[in-house]
Amino acid sequence: MNASLRNCPECGRVFGYMGRNLCPDCLDKEEKIFQLVRKYVRDHPGDDIYEVAEAIGVEEEKILQFLRDGRLQSRGFQASLECERCGGRINSGRYCQSCREILDNSLRRVAPERRTTAEAKPAPANKKRVHKMHIMDSE
Ligand SMILES: [Zn+2]
Ligand SMILES: [Zn+2]
Repeated sequence: MNASLRNCPECGRVFGYMGRNLCPDCLDKEEKIFQLVRKYVRDHPGDDIYEVAEAIGVEEEKILQFLRDGRLQSRGFQASLECERCGGRINSGRYCQSCREILDNSLRRVAPERRTTAEAKPAPANKKRVHKMHIMDSE
């Protein structure tokens, strides 16, 4: 047994940490919520996150967390997350489709026709002031 003790962020109880950041009770609760959310979204496509949260009686943050974790993916779900790159609305994950493609492409070789955001920084003008010395020959 090498489980370290932690405080559950949900209920504050001390529990033996086993890889998940919640105590077994809250983990169990979260799993039940997840199943409810998944079922509700399947039965009510098109509802937005707030309607889902209200219907089930959970916090919106919980549902957002499922979406962020990628556990919950629904095309019928109204976009409630923001792309971390462009701030556009997305349904799941961290990036929107086009940013994912851009990121994918930049990981491989950059596909030229896909490049839309070429950020060319102009080189700062570096003008050095030159003081010319005039030497006058004195006679
Ligand atoms: Zn707990
Ligand atoms: Zn994006």
